Amino acid sequence: MSILFEKVAIIGLGLIGSSICHGIRERGLARHISGHAKSSETRKVAMELKLVDDVHESAVAAVKNADLVILCAPVGACGPLAKEIGPHLKAGAILTDVGSVKGAIVRDCGPFVPKGVHFIPGHPIAGTEQSGPRSGFAELFHGRWCILTPVPGTDPAATQKLTEFWEGLGSMVDIMEHGHHDLVLAITSHLPHLIAYNTVATASDLETVTDSEVIKYSASGFRDFTRIAASDPTMWRDVFLNNKDAVLEMLGRFSEELAILQRAVRWGDGETLFNLFTRAREVRRGIIAAGQDTAAPDFGRGHKPK
Ligand code: NAP
Repeated sequence: MSILFEKVAIIGLGLIGSSICHGIRERGLARHISGHAKSSETRKVAMELKLVDDVHESAVAAVKNADLVILCAPVGACGPLAKEIGPHLKAGAILTDVGSVKGAIVRDCGPFVPKGVHFIPGHPIAGTEQSGPRSGFAELFHGRWCILTPVPGTDPAATQKLTEFWEGLGSMVDIMEHGHHDLVLAITSHLPHLIAYNTVATASDLETVTDSEVIKYSASGFRDFTRIAASDPTMWRDVFLNNKDAVLEMLGRFSEELAILQRAVRWGDGETLFNLFTRAREVRRGIIAAGQDTAAPDFGRGHKPK
């Protein structure tokens, strides 16, 4: 791959930020990477792992002369970061992010983007339950979708360049309106996380089943919920604070379906249960057929970051 940007600034060096750094290095997508993270510990690790060429205590210093700036911090931190760096962005630069919610990013960051800077929110649909600068790996984005949500009036050439960048990291790119993104992700990602957190919390509150029994017999389904529920609490708090309407809409629909299942269980209605389980199994098969997961036991998630 050839160099797409002279200088990229990564603001936030956790799972996603550090994975982008590894990917840029592996594919030679930029000549120079500058970084910024909130804590001195993360900044120290970023240098130790050579994720970046230089790291800065201030986000403003990191974005100086950058052609591409990627906000990789929790959604709630992005507005204040945009406010801080906005006046210091280079004319012609692209400002993007990786946040799991897009409407809130447009609302909170948009007003601070100066004229002449291309603002193109984005979201790689790739992740693990790990967090922090040591958890990243270049392959995270391989074969995964990345959704870009440019606002009307965005320069198509800038969107094309950012598309090439994500393709360079190994992703496939889709363009979507930000409100639509938030609705789609509410059902495919946000609701499953809420249910996983709640299932694990319910199990830990049980008085008649011991913690050791929950751990011992967890292979039977519960284990996958605990994996999802191990995700970073700050990130997920910000997702639910910032995608309230779409999550409540999906939660309402989910509750209606759950009431149907509850009724079927109560009245021994095997046909309703069988039909719903059959429909759900087809969805799983579709995901495997589309190459977005594997039918291997444990969902093929044996990969361990270096
Ligand atoms: P993470 O591993 O917890 O890393 C977050 C990074 O942001 C850390 O380096 C943290 O610095 C930094 N940070 C936090 N607040 C900051 C602030 N105010 N100013 C500057 N830096 C700050 O989280 P992540 O999983 O990479 O998630 C980052 C973003 O990616 C989130 O918006 C999330 O919605 C999105 N995303 C996540 C996934 C996923 O599966 N995890 C997938 C797709 C998109 P310190 O280490 O110093 O605290």
